[in-house]
Amino acid sequence: MSELHKFLFDGLPVRGMIVRLTDAWQEILARRASNTATGPYPTPVAELLGEMTAAATLMQSNIKFNGALILQIFGDGPVKVAVAEAKPDLSLRATAKVIGDLPADARLPDMVNVSNKGRCAITLDPKDKLPGATPYQGVVPLFGDEGEKLGKLSDVLEHYMLQSEQLDTTLVLAADDKVAAGLLIQRLPVKGEGNLEGTSGTSDKDRDQANEDQIGLNEDYNRISILASSLKRDELLTLDIETILRRLFWEEKLLRFEPQAGPLGPHFACTCGRERVAQMIRGLGVEEAEEILAERGDIEVGCDFCGKQYRFDAIDAAQIFRPPTDQIPGSPIVQ
Ligand SMILES: [Zn+2]
Repeated sequence: MSELHKFLFDGLPVRGMIVRLTDAWQEILARRASNTATGPYPTPVAELLGEMTAAATLMQSNIKFNGALILQIFGDGPVKVAVAEAKPDLSLRATAKVIGDLPADARLPDMVNVSNKGRCAITLDPKDKLPGATPYQGVVPLFGDEGEKLGKLSDVLEHYMLQSEQLDTTLVLAADDKVAAGLLIQRLPVKGEGNLEGTSGTSDKDRDQANEDQIGLNEDYNRISILASSLKRDELLTLDIETILRRLFWEEKLLRFEPQAGPLGPHFACTCGRERVAQMIRGLGVEEAEEILAERGDIEVGCDFCGKQYRFDAIDAAQIFRPPTDQIPGSPIVQ
């Protein structure tokens, strides 16, 4: 069963979170494997996508935001794009587009940053968006401060958190064909929400400055970060959460929150639907749609996330392009 546990370090400005995706992750892999057009993910891609899914779950749970957190990597290598999406109810989905072969031991730069053009984007897409509003998006390169190619997704995301929130963050991520898991440790903001020192009239600017001044300097955070970083891939994948927390933090006092598991825990869900696909076909334009119809008889679109197939024949397609006023009520494009 997939589960997420949150905790605080008693009296210290540090919080933590650990996620272990089993059924939710296996469902994502199984749906891909049963897609006859693509077949299963190559092992390194599955590992990357699993790490992304665990990371998206942690990042979603770490912010108070009513909408989807979408973690994307746009690659310039065999992996063209990889996407993991997490919603506030911990529903998850993920997919990747892979073109060509890649070695079994391919690392992050071999997959997505071959000619230095890969990048990672974090999008916050609000649930109740005003018309015309664009979601917030932060983009981070796949390079470190010294211009070196980053070898691990966790390095990329730690960088992002430091830039966007001025908060030190330690991430340990791992995935295989059964489990996708992650541990996040973060220094709490100096002032403001979740803070241990009160909120007495400090301006945002002062607070950002205070947070920035603390980067790398908090001894409690640094000690806990070192402990967290000692967690090995195999341990994260094979040990249960209680064992991991005990082994890493047995000398610290943890305040635990109620774990999120079962129906309220992380789970696979896809939000695709026939009307969305119809919108996409509308976006192609009537000419291109007619071309496809002439060539193949119908337009068939599969959802990359869940594998569901949507078929539109000539009559359905005509309906899509009819002006809204003369749509037949109960027509097949509305699900
Ligand atoms: Zn779907």
